[in-house]
Amino acid sequence: MTFLSKKLKRKFPIFSKKINGHPLLYLDSAATTQKPKNVIDTLTRFYLHEYGTVHRAIYSLSLEATEKYDAAREAVRDFIHAKHVEEIVFTRGTTDSINLVALSFGKRLEPGDEILVSEAEHHSNLVPWQMLAKERGIKLIFIPINDKGEIVLDEYKRRLTPQTKLVSIAHIFNTTGVVNPVKEMIQLAHEVGAKVMIDGAQAIAHTPVDVQDLHADFYAFSGHKAYGPTGVGVLYGEREILKQLTPIQGGGDMVERATLEETTYRQIPLCFEAGTPMIAEVIAFKEAIAFLKEVGIQNIQRHEQKLLEMMTVELQKIPGLKIYGTSPNKGAIISFLQEGIHHLDIGTLLDLKGVAVRSGQHCSHPSMDRFGIEGTVRVSFGLYNTVEDVKRFVALLLETISYLQRK
Ligand code: PMP
Repeated sequence: MTFLSKKLKRKFPIFSKKINGHPLLYLDSAATTQKPKNVIDTLTRFYLHEYGTVHRAIYSLSLEATEKYDAAREAVRDFIHAKHVEEIVFTRGTTDSINLVALSFGKRLEPGDEILVSEAEHHSNLVPWQMLAKERGIKLIFIPINDKGEIVLDEYKRRLTPQTKLVSIAHIFNTTGVVNPVKEMIQLAHEVGAKVMIDGAQAIAHTPVDVQDLHADFYAFSGHKAYGPTGVGVLYGEREILKQLTPIQGGGDMVERATLEETTYRQIPLCFEAGTPMIAEVIAFKEAIAFLKEVGIQNIQRHEQKLLEMMTVELQKIPGLKIYGTSPNKGAIISFLQEGIHHLDIGTLLDLKGVAVRSGQHCSHPSMDRFGIEGTVRVSFGLYNTVEDVKRFVALLLETISYLQRK
């Protein structure tokens, strides 16, 4: 089987909507995915009929909500093949997960220690490390990217030293879609005793993730990029490492015993989940995972790779169009620019035809600086995109380019 069934699109209510009088052509799944009806129904059902707090009360509503919340944690564990359920910390999203590591793991770092990130990270995987570096006198070292958008592995190896305490790297770059050789990078980092944080925001819904096989120390992702609700994310942390970290937020539910002067904390992962969590969102995220598993992450990857291939071939035929990120290892993302035309003009005109693409810097100014450009048009796929979507996009893009060239 190559392509997924076209019928999958019908499971997403938003696709019955018209945008500016046209059927929605959604090509911005790298920013956030649309939601299947089962996820929306789970949220609604929970608020209508099942709503209650978790981990606190002994009445039925709360006990049932707690059971569902805990089952979601187990579903995440299974989905990323973590060894232990307590390695799964619920957060608000990738940004929140990375900040948790920066603030918590960061407390153990000392002046002179080094953190490695690439030149093409999302701001979420750059700014927290910049803040930490300034605060603690840590050195932030950058791994170069070549013209294809790939990590330069030799340069990476040269930068790994006994001072390296952490490497934090995207599994898949959100600007170019280039897939990083994270397994190899983790192994190399471990050889110098460094820990590795993987920003899996662009990978989780597009490629199988097995944290044990990767030997990742930390792995972060967002529910909303994986067909789940906003406001829920995950930090995977290897059990022994997570146990050594101290909580960064104090509050309800993370306390074992508090006196006026002193508090002992609950075990992982609850010590990292202070306050009432995003109960409905976590529960609905379990539905999103069930949906992904039902469709099959390998099938999704194959489908999106085929769409990527088709789109790349078609875009390469357009004179004056340049693709950024030409590595053979790519996820479901294509970034491009058309000579002589501003990326925002393309995005704006495509919207008038019902097409949702991103134009801009994609929250990664340094990536744009690396390529010496101001921004790109970015097309990204989800499991609901079809061959017809690719054909319609290419036709509308050609129309848009020729209109703008005539002006
Ligand atoms: N890292 C990468 C690679 C991303 O693509 C994104 C989202 N665009 C993030 C981090 C941040 O994710 P969130 O906004 O869901 O926290």
